[in-house]
Amino acid sequence: MNKLDTALVAGALKEAGFRLTDTVKDADVVLINTCSVREHAEQRVMSHLGHLKHIKKSHPDLVVGIIGCMAQRLGDELLKHEAVNLVCGPAQIPRLSTLIADAIQGKKLTATVTEKIRQKPTGEQNRSLDEFESAYGTEDKQIPAQAFVRVMRGCNNFCTYCIVPYVRGPEVSRPPEAIMEQIRKLADNGVKQVTLLGQRVNAYRYPKGETTWSLADVLDAASNIEGIERLKFVTSFPSEEFFDDILQVMAGSPKVCNYLHIPAQSGSDRILHAMNRHYSSGEYLELLERARDIVPDIAIAGDFIVGFPGETEADFEATVDLVKKARYKNAFIFKYSPRPGTTADKRLHDTIPADIKQRRNVELLAVQEKISDELSRDFLGKQVNVLVEGLSKKSHVNRDQDDNPQLIGRTSGDWIVVFNGPESLTGKFAQVKITAVSPLTLFGQLG
Ligand code: SAH
Ligand code: SF4
Repeated sequence: MNKLDTALVAGALKEAGFRLTDTVKDADVVLINTCSVREHAEQRVMSHLGHLKHIKKSHPDLVVGIIGCMAQRLGDELLKHEAVNLVCGPAQIPRLSTLIADAIQGKKLTATVTEKIRQKPTGEQNRSLDEFESAYGTEDKQIPAQAFVRVMRGCNNFCTYCIVPYVRGPEVSRPPEAIMEQIRKLADNGVKQVTLLGQRVNAYRYPKGETTWSLADVLDAASNIEGIERLKFVTSFPSEEFFDDILQVMAGSPKVCNYLHIPAQSGSDRILHAMNRHYSSGEYLELLERARDIVPDIAIAGDFIVGFPGETEADFEATVDLVKKARYKNAFIFKYSPRPGTTADKRLHDTIPADIKQRRNVELLAVQEKISDELSRDFLGKQVNVLVEGLSKKSHVNRDQDDNPQLIGRTSGDWIVVFNGPESLTGKFAQVKITAVSPLTLFGQLG
């Protein structure tokens, strides 16, 4: 979501006459797009601000703006920081270039955020955001031929640990025609892979005439758009809602990638209940089983939080057990971070000491790594189709005998593939034969 917002803002500001600089030192305006999901991300913003305060001593006209979720969460409080000139919430980004112009002129600013964040946005507010997304939702400049398209804003689930509903507001599905128009435009500009975004993307629903569009309908319609070769969607919530329909489309359409990101968060029913996740570990595993029945070669990824308030060793063991049974391609594991204003923070205490959270994190990662390693071995000797993202981090050290640099690409199941080839393959599809594997990366040769 943040990558998309950054791309949207960069596109809009470019059109307003701004230009991106390579370093902060050359900039007249510095914007920090922020995340509030964990405290660590917010701390990093504060340390950037400390650095910017220092730069401002020799560059007093520098305008510093905070945008994104932290802007919405802290509002005016951020304006008190010496380095900050403007604060703009996620729903106000269409106004950003005007706010910057005001800040350059030295006008006194107040934080531009949504006053009552849980109030349903008006039709006008939705339209303004939709138009902004459609106008500036362009191809990802860092990864050619790929783009994100938001299908839903906000979230209504209120998992007790999560700040998202308080900073991104109520769940709103975007009109299918706006989504399709955007994808069509992206395809015309050479985009081949589109990732549809929503906090509970499978809850997408848009009433249209007699029927209601679901994510399955969106995927189906998008796969008919010429030029689009791959469609992905994140993140799915483990619920029955439109689950089978989406998987049927995945099974039936070669363009819909066989990849499902479906966070479990915990394997303990007691903790899942305290998290307000509305499913048990058994129900979750049943969903994975169904997914594998419908799409046999599906790659599944998950998220987990370790050290949620009150998590006992037995609860943690239940999570380890679930990870073993789920056989994820990969899992993102986070240490519980109390977020101000959430139910978990108000009603429960952050009871698990940092060293225990750390140990559980490392232990769970090791369990997952073993599974990723086992799954990656299945690829040995096989040919995979990858969309090439560009040079790998060690591209020039690892040249082959023909002096081709090392490239990086992804399979439709989201496996990272590293191989040597001409840089001109960037943004194109390539066939790679897998010759070696590590838990998170497949290595191969063009073939
Ligand atoms: N909407 C998605 C994910 C939103 S945030 C979903 O429902 O799955 C991305 C991930 O951050 C979550 O899946 C969760 O694992 C993690 N996360 C969210 N709040 C957190 C917190 N307070 N502490 C630690 N991790 C958190
Ligand atoms: Fe947060 Fe839960 Fe909504 Fe995901 S579903 S954004 S974890 S409240």
